[in-house]
Amino acid sequence: MPNVPRARLARSRRSSALTAAILVLSLVPSAAGVAAADHPAGADEVLVRYRADVTRAQRAGVASEHGLTTVRTSADGRTQVVVAEGRSPATARRELKDDPRVLAVADNHRRELFDDITDETYFDELWGLHNTGQRIDGIQDQVGTPDIDIDGLEALRFERGDSDVVVAVVDDGVDFSHPDLAGQAWTNPGEAGPNATNGVDDDSNGYIDDVHGWDFCNDDNTVSDPGQDFHGTHVAGTIAASLNGTGIVGVAPGIKIMALKFIDDSEECGADDMAVAAIDYAASFDVPIINASWGGPSPSAVLDLSILESGALFVAAAGNGGANIDAPGGPRSYPANSTMPNVVTVAAIDQLGRVASFSNYGTTSVDLSAPGTNVLSAIPSEPGCNPCWAWIAGTSMAAPHVSGVAALALSVMSGTPTAVQLRARLLATGAPLAPTVGKTLTGRLVNARNAVDVVGPVATPINRHGFNVGSIVGSTISTTMTWPAATDTLTGVQSYLIKRSLNGATWTTLINSTTARSYKRTMSFGTPTRFALYARDGAGNLGNGAIGPAVTASLLQDGTAIAKYGGKWSTVTLSSASGGRLHRSTSHGATVEFKTSARAIAVIGRRGPLNGRAKVYVDGVYKSTIDLRKSTWQSKVIVFNTSWTSTATHSVKLVVIGGSGRVDVDAFAFLR
Ligand code: CA
Ligand code: CA
Ligand code: CA
Repeated sequence: MPNVPRARLARSRRSSALTAAILVLSLVPSAAGVAAADHPAGADEVLVRYRADVTRAQRAGVASEHGLTTVRTSADGRTQVVVAEGRSPATARRELKDDPRVLAVADNHRRELFDDITDETYFDELWGLHNTGQRIDGIQDQVGTPDIDIDGLEALRFERGDSDVVVAVVDDGVDFSHPDLAGQAWTNPGEAGPNATNGVDDDSNGYIDDVHGWDFCNDDNTVSDPGQDFHGTHVAGTIAASLNGTGIVGVAPGIKIMALKFIDDSEECGADDMAVAAIDYAASFDVPIINASWGGPSPSAVLDLSILESGALFVAAAGNGGANIDAPGGPRSYPANSTMPNVVTVAAIDQLGRVASFSNYGTTSVDLSAPGTNVLSAIPSEPGCNPCWAWIAGTSMAAPHVSGVAALALSVMSGTPTAVQLRARLLATGAPLAPTVGKTLTGRLVNARNAVDVVGPVATPINRHGFNVGSIVGSTISTTMTWPAATDTLTGVQSYLIKRSLNGATWTTLINSTTARSYKRTMSFGTPTRFALYARDGAGNLGNGAIGPAVTASLLQDGTAIAKYGGKWSTVTLSSASGGRLHRSTSHGATVEFKTSARAIAVIGRRGPLNGRAKVYVDGVYKSTIDLRKSTWQSKVIVFNTSWTSTATHSVKLVVIGGSGRVDVDAFAFLR
């Protein structure tokens, strides 16, 4: 991580009365780590822009006149890259600037794509988004376990969140002047533009100039105050820090943050009435997600009702007591243990996938887990550090990971999901994480990639049906169907589901879930049967059914007119044979050829101690030699099968190898 500065220990901070972030230690990267986003020019290249009224001929000599070598010239000739070999580029630039044919001169800088996620300066520090087993020298110096993360990088490559999705950070304040949060603020449309500073409550909601939210602690519109708000700023950064080539990136950089401050370091603030006012404020703007990285031991019926009435997904941190908050007589954490159906409660895990030592847990109160140790995010600037990022640990840091994933999910889900539906999706799409089983309701780690995968795999129809050699034919025949792999963009194909329709009747499920790409099934003769293949992805989505053609199995006896016998054959009456009779030959070179329109053809024969071998040709090409010798007698057995991916005219021909024993041909089966 060459571009990440070494951290220095700043201080440990006192937590606020109601904040859950008890283990708040920050390591502040030095200001020197905030590098410019572009590289120096490559190899002293100078970029020259010529005046539009200078002809190509007039420009032709400029570079050589100044002793410069041309590297590239644009198609229209107006811009040119030159290098000053053996000369100072500064001198060359000065001379070019003075040349009347030249409009402008500059270093030929190398730029970066700001939207490349991993180009964020500190992306490698964000193990919660993308854990490669990297060392994080944050609060603890720790090496993680690869893929213990929320698959945030994979999700971001697909979905960054809709700008009309808003997460309310009910917390202390949010410093939107931080470069990672500039442009990420929700703006109240009624207080925008000239209304923002006119001292008038333009939208008549009781709050004057509430542009990006409100400070319910100090009852003003400054959602961040000097020397405060590191907690809410850090939380907001984890949810939605911008993809701007600098610092970090949040889980959902495309969404907006509403800052609702109700807590600070003073005893007066952090009161439940302020939290209720903040939640009610979010509800008045139909905000779909509220992040609550705070709590206390006592429940509140009033706060509960405000949470319920908000209709928002209320993402609560489990709290940092390291306790089972469900245990009888044990410690409690609220709103983590609120029973409101729109509350999702989050435990913290570390880089190794273990429940963080400080994290509360409980299989009733705590729903799932998220990264909560060594979490790097934005904090307000402070002496010697501007802009600043800090590592903080706490369930306060885990909750915003879930809020961010919820915002991504909401951006891709169709319709208008309710908070309860959104909660269900987060729980269902989490990735099972063994150390959290028995610690949270689901035993799952929130997963952004799964949460944004709302489209099932694309399946192609089952394209091959064949008969099973060695199986016995009765009133039905044993077949195996196979199909090409389905494809899925985000989470991959996990299993297949197969439905069947007999004779055009209703579809019924043959098998709900198989990971194989083949399936064995008996078919009745003469019944047109359709099969539909569905694939299920890692997020549990079932794709559209791919319906194959109607397939019908047929059986023809050995005496059928389609079968052409050559050489010496006899017919044998045998009660165990199909139709009570079969064709038999022991004569070298005797043949039988069965030709029809089919997608699969099988030869049914007899095996036993007196039987021998035959060569098989398919469409005139030698395919294999079948051996019908067996220590026990076996009648009506499939001795050969061949199949294709579509129906066409094909032939199967047996040539008896003389002296090896009998070749008994009992019947032919085919599918078309
Ligand atoms: Ca207002
Ligand atoms: Ca106003
Ligand atoms: Ca950034």
